[in-house]
Amino acid sequence: MGVQEEASSVVPVLPAKHSGIPQYLFEKATAAKKTIFKGRTKPAKQRQRVPVVPQGIERDAFIAALEELGGQLGKENVEVNDKPLVDGWYMEHPNTHDMMTILDEEEFVASAVVYPSTTEEVQSIVQWANKHKIPIFPISMGRNLGYGGAAPRVRGSVVIDLGRRMNRILDINPEDYTCLVEPGVSYYGLYEAIKERGYDHLWIDVPDLGGGSVIGNAVDRGVGYTPYGDHWACHSGLEVVLPTGEVIRTGMGALPGNNTWQTFPYGFGPFSDGIFSQSNYGIVTKMGMTLMPNPGGYEGFMYTFPKEEDLAPLIDIIRPLRISMILENVAQLRHVTQSVAARGIPRSKFYSGSGPIPMDIVHKAAAEQPVGDHSWGYYGMCYGPEHIRKHKLAIIDAEFKKIPGARKIDPKSLPEDEYYFARERVAAGIPDIHELRWVNWTPNGAHIAFSPVSPIRGTDATALNDLGRRIHDKYGIDFFPAFIVGLREMHLIVEIVFDRDDPERKKAALDCLRDLVEEAAKLGYGEYRTHLVLMDQVAGTYNWNDSALMKFNEKLKDALDPNGILAPGRCGIWPKRYRNRGWEMTRESGVKSEGNGVEP
Ligand code: ADP
Repeated sequence: MGVQEEASSVVPVLPAKHSGIPQYLFEKATAAKKTIFKGRTKPAKQRQRVPVVPQGIERDAFIAALEELGGQLGKENVEVNDKPLVDGWYMEHPNTHDMMTILDEEEFVASAVVYPSTTEEVQSIVQWANKHKIPIFPISMGRNLGYGGAAPRVRGSVVIDLGRRMNRILDINPEDYTCLVEPGVSYYGLYEAIKERGYDHLWIDVPDLGGGSVIGNAVDRGVGYTPYGDHWACHSGLEVVLPTGEVIRTGMGALPGNNTWQTFPYGFGPFSDGIFSQSNYGIVTKMGMTLMPNPGGYEGFMYTFPKEEDLAPLIDIIRPLRISMILENVAQLRHVTQSVAARGIPRSKFYSGSGPIPMDIVHKAAAEQPVGDHSWGYYGMCYGPEHIRKHKLAIIDAEFKKIPGARKIDPKSLPEDEYYFARERVAAGIPDIHELRWVNWTPNGAHIAFSPVSPIRGTDATALNDLGRRIHDKYGIDFFPAFIVGLREMHLIVEIVFDRDDPERKKAALDCLRDLVEEAAKLGYGEYRTHLVLMDQVAGTYNWNDSALMKFNEKLKDALDPNGILAPGRCGIWPKRYRNRGWEMTRESGVKSEGNGVEP
């Protein structure tokens, strides 16, 4: 497919396509697509490809094994990846590779993609993988952009695209405020289903972009922006296919005939759910999720703060308010550079020099925008009927105004398409697509995140912010910090936006990330989640007591997955067949993702 053809296809819509956009966002998505393709100079790949064969199996045996699988699942449900790699964009994303790759696209690439329709079919794929010792890599929607998208960690793995055919909402319970979903249910899809059924009293919690799956986001411990923002904490009950093919239900799901699977996550005995998130110990085929009650009203608010140095005192003001739930939602404190980029205007319109965009240019651009100039912007939400909101908002106002020059932005003064309103919708559980805009900052915009966690403390915020800026400056990269404030901790999410068609900028981005992870760890900070390319490095920083935790993870991996077929290397956990063969990616291994063979 050429770039022209890609650009001209119609954005897929729900319910015709499980990964489509809801009708209410169709125009917005179409406009977003147009802007993205306008900034695309990367030529489309034309080359027919020989499918990559994973290490450990001969080509002929591999092709024969795929044919065998086609016999079980139906030929049309086993797709060999021999076509040119098409990047698409957020709503029409590939399931064969990372469309925002920081390496060569052929590194984290699938050999084939398979489409099961039932848990039993997932079991048979797993049994097949064990029989032939072929690595498999499950995805739900494959929109984990910034962290690897749909790409497998081991080159030539067979991607199991669960979402395409397993996308049913199995239950929405309007009395218990819960639901039970399959892997292909996106936030867009769940939101639409709740509205369609007329359940106005139920809210969902959504991440910045609503196209990801409820399951994929929760198992990778993604966040949203209502009080139910910690998705993993809000799930209840899993059905999991183990790497040897057995299927289990966790929590109350293990008790036949129970009606508490989605209301009591623990059941009896060890709480096993934890080992199925950020791991490679199982394939989640069903998950329960709790839903939030409609709070009976809400009111978004935004404050801006003028100086860079306001960060520390502001975070110290936020902490007690957040812990006591006066600040009720997972809110965002964003730096002005990202607010400028959130308008979707390319950086070149502001600055064409090399190195990071100078701050005086950023401030000048911000001053011309509706929100006005600032250094930090806080986007929050207050829930409940007006008389309750009034008290909370008054406390917040008094506290935030302790920062000299703090301004409360009047939403009525902002145009309809202002970023503020996207944040407000997301914090009200309404999925959006607005967040995509800052990807247009560079041509062929791709992004990858550095995401360390810390307590909600001014000293920590300053330490991480200073570290981030210093290392970004070193590599000439614009610095986009955003603090995402949870209940007792905050994630600093720094999105590095780069031109994925520029080898030099890709290298700078990767070197910058490696420095960030390494130097943050020296200060005692670790990442909450990471991209495939950094998983080994990040896992390596969690090394207390001679890497006792990784040794435990490996012991579990070897017990559960003796043939090492399920997502080898994901989250830095390598099965025995791959260990000590140079599969880990570190600064020293450069951009090469493969090791030297696997144990027979
Ligand atoms: P999203 O659905 O948000 O687009 P992905 O499908 O890309 O997210 O999932 C993110 C990551 O989580 C995947 O790369 C995969 O490693 C893991 N994952 C996703 N779905 C499952 C699942 N059903 N079972 C096990 N791991 C999963």
